[in-house]
Amino acid sequence: TAVEIIDELAGSIETRHGALGAYLSHDLEDARKAAAAADLSLPLGGIPVGIKDNINVLGQPCTCGSKFLQGGYTSPYDATVIQRLRAAGAVPFGRMNMDEFAMGSSTENSALGKTVNPHSADHIPGGSSGGSAAAVASGLAIAALGSDTGGSIRQPASHCGVVGLKPSYGRVSRYGLVAFASSLDQIGPLTRSVEDAAMVLQAIAGYDPRDSTSLDAPVPDYLAALDQGVAGLKLGLPKEYFGEGIDPGVRDTVMAAVSKLEKAGAEIVEISLPHTEHAVATYYIIAPAEASSNLSRFDGIRYGVRKGEGDLLEVYRDSREHGFGAEVKRRILLGTYVLSSGYYDAYYNRAQKVRTLIRRDFTEAFEKVDAILSPVAPAPARRIGVNADDPLQEYLSDIFTIAANLAGICGISVPAGTVGTDAAELPVGLQILGPHLGEAALLRIARAAE
Ligand code: GLN
Repeated sequence: TAVEIIDELAGSIETRHGALGAYLSHDLEDARKAAAAADLSLPLGGIPVGIKDNINVLGQPCTCGSKFLQGGYTSPYDATVIQRLRAAGAVPFGRMNMDEFAMGSSTENSALGKTVNPHSADHIPGGSSGGSAAAVASGLAIAALGSDTGGSIRQPASHCGVVGLKPSYGRVSRYGLVAFASSLDQIGPLTRSVEDAAMVLQAIAGYDPRDSTSLDAPVPDYLAALDQGVAGLKLGLPKEYFGEGIDPGVRDTVMAAVSKLEKAGAEIVEISLPHTEHAVATYYIIAPAEASSNLSRFDGIRYGVRKGEGDLLEVYRDSREHGFGAEVKRRILLGTYVLSSGYYDAYYNRAQKVRTLIRRDFTEAFEKVDAILSPVAPAPARRIGVNADDPLQEYLSDIFTIAANLAGICGISVPAGTVGTDAAELPVGLQILGPHLGEAALLRIARAAE
């Protein structure tokens, strides 16, 4: 029964979770109740799904990996994706660790605990959806939801060896997702297989009048075309994604996956995305700008912690000083700086123009090819702690994932193999990027690469 599945999973978490740090919390009684009521004839009937801790589930905590919301906030409603999961029979189970407010690529920025890579406890699981990826990879979740603003589903999926899908902007409702950068954020699945990713996407995709950026476009049957193969498809290799700075082991593993698709009948062609080199700089202006605005709601009055004895300004200052971690403060400072009146044109406006050029690169590429193949990250998971004092180095590791968010297109990370390092065999993902609302083809190619 569905209740037995929940009990068994809870038992596994009890005995095997240990130092993994993937779950921040789980509410067994709530999940058992939902499981008892679940209709098993539905597509996800009785299936527990781990939820990144920035997606609201009625009656559950939603900490965003931050001290700001720890212990002080309980969700008064279900996010639209949660309503849809429930309608498909699934049982939201567990709050997954994450970089604070989804800012990071390692889950080390969580203020609430460490998550390690299931393949090596000395290595990061990736981030910001590191808890979701680590739980699925270690068999402590069947599927999980993450959010991807600049790679936070695809990169941890790649580092942990699972499938991670970032849907096209507007495909999945953001209602009930705590906003980081609203023009970039999308919710998507992390799963063990491409088929599972298709099933979860099927459940959560679609128009939502409560998210004004959600698209009123029909949702195709993602499972129907899954096994149709790649014969006759044209797949592009962007030369800017295979140049200097990429780990040779990652390049070889990705190229082996490319060969597999070629053998399966796809035509491989070289393409160019000429503005790639500006993607990191553009993203790290736009995302912090939007974050600085979105996070102004955390003022010590409305949500979570309240500090400060004196006047209103002191409450704001002390609550934010106490509640936010270093990376979140850095983003707020960056964001308010680029939006300030003297610098707005030089930074924010210019970044928006470059964003248009990056989007145009993809539009032109998709006139020539059906999808684009690339690495997800320039290197396998790094050791924990290495970039602690070097945020710029950390930002640069997002180079292959963030352009998709700037352009609003869809992308998936599918396991391509492992790379041997001095410490362990670490997974490496193949990234497949598709045109806006091209998820069906994306899944089909990913299935052939699996
Ligand atoms: N690593 C990127 C950042 O720190 C992306 C994070 C994400 O996708 N949420 O902003």
